[in-house]
Amino acid sequence: MPFSRLGLIEPLVQSVTDAGYNKPTSIQEKAIPVVLRGDNLIAAAQTGTGKTASFVLPILQQLSSAETKRKKRIRALIIAPTRELVVQVAASVNTYAKHLNLTALAMYGGVDAKQQRQALVDGVDILVATPGRLLDMYTRRAVHFDEVEVLVLDEADKMLDMGFIDDIDDIVAKLPSERQSLLFSATLSKKVRALAKNAVDHPVEISI
Ligand code: AMP
Repeated sequence: MPFSRLGLIEPLVQSVTDAGYNKPTSIQEKAIPVVLRGDNLIAAAQTGTGKTASFVLPILQQLSSAETKRKKRIRALIIAPTRELVVQVAASVNTYAKHLNLTALAMYGGVDAKQQRQALVDGVDILVATPGRLLDMYTRRAVHFDEVEVLVLDEADKMLDMGFIDDIDDIVAKLPSERQSLLFSATLSKKVRALAKNAVDHPVEISI
């Protein structure tokens, strides 16, 4: 099945073609239509399956829709466990967004926050962040959650293993309740499901 059959708009089909992908992976084929129609989702998918594009592509499509005006505040929030993953996901966002007028920022700890803060002032549509630095920036009022339309919890099992449960619960509690929520995890263990119960309302469930 070609990417265009999944309901993706031309600039996104162009981006995946530019990236050299001929057809969607299994998780992309299953998740993209669900996310495009606005449903909440929990998905069991490991790294290497193409899971990043399965949420990034439909999120970009929703944010680029003509009815929504460009805002200064973040509209999509992707939370991931490590600096490496945050950088990688933000790079994917930029790759797939190259024919669209949308911007992404990678935010993580262990570095000076000044640049990240300035980027937020300039305006960021999609924020990709580790939980600790994100909460810190929120507390300092450098980032605002009131325009968040979509939340992604990426590698949720790893975030739980790393002890981020309280940070994630805190963040989720501050987000607008009317939003789309997506959770990706290598496995949907009891702990992951407990997190999902709090963060992801009435999800469609996918496993590959
Ligand atoms: P991920 O599971 O998101 O970390 O992606 C794993 C790798 O698969 C990345 O290097 C992507 O660039 C690549 N990839 C993503 N989607 C496709 C696709 N449809 N066809 C081939 N490779 C892909």
